[in-house]
Amino acid sequence: MDINTKGVLIVISGPSGAGKGTICKALLEKDKNLHISVSATTRSPRAGEVDGVNYHFMTKEEFKDRIEKDDFLEFAEVYGNFYGTPKSGVQELLDKGYNVILEIDIQGALKVKEKVDDGVFIFILPPSMEELKARIINRGSETEASLMTRFKSAYQEINYVSKYNYAVVNDTVEEAVRKIEGILLAETCRVDRIKEHILDSKEGLIHEQLYD
Ligand code: 5GP
Repeated sequence: MDINTKGVLIVISGPSGAGKGTICKALLEKDKNLHISVSATTRSPRAGEVDGVNYHFMTKEEFKDRIEKDDFLEFAEVYGNFYGTPKSGVQELLDKGYNVILEIDIQGALKVKEKVDDGVFIFILPPSMEELKARIINRGSETEASLMTRFKSAYQEINYVSKYNYAVVNDTVEEAVRKIEGILLAETCRVDRIKEHILDSKEGLIHEQLYD
C-alpha cells in the first residue's frame, strides 16, 4: 500500500569537487523512482557533456528570456555563469509520486528552501580540504584562475552546511549513497507526508481512510 501521494524534492549541494555529481549518478542508477532535474546553464559544455542530458546549454540571451518568462524555480550566477532549475517537469514528476533531485549551488538551494517547505536539503562534505583540492585539480577541466576561485569558494561554502537538514561526508561514493538512501527512506515514511485528507480526518476514521 502506498500512502504517500507526492514525491520528495531532494536538494543536494556542496562545494566543487565534493563529489555531488558522482553521488547523484550512482543514486539514479540504483533507484528507478528517482529523477534528476536537468538545469539550464550559460556555461560551455565540458568534454563529454551532452545537451539535454547534463544541462540545457543556452546563451545568456536565451537564459534572460527564460527568466522574464518566469520559467525557473530558482536561478543563480555561479563562477560567472548562470544556472537555473526549470519549473516545468519538476512539479509534474513530484505529482506523479517520483522523488526528484536538484543538484544546485547554495544560493539556489536557499531560494528553493523559501518556496518548498517540505524539501529535503542535503549538504555533501569532502573528507578533507586536501582531498577536495586534489579532486578539483584531478578533474582537469578548470583553468588556473577558475581553480583558485573554486578553492576559495569551497572554504566559504562549507559554512552553509548549517542551513541544510542533513550533512553527508563523501568518504566513499558507496557510503555516501547508502546514507542518502537511508535519509530518503526515512523522509518518505514521515507522517506529515501522508495524504493530507488522511491527516485531516478525525482519529477514529484514520484506519478506514488508510485501508479503504
Ligand atoms: P558545474 O559548472 O561544475 O557543472 O556547476 C557549478 C555549480 O553550479 C555547482 O555547484 C552546481 O551544483 C551548480 N548548479 C548546477 N545547476 C544549477 C541550477 O540549476 N541552479 C543553481 N543555483 N546552481 C546549479
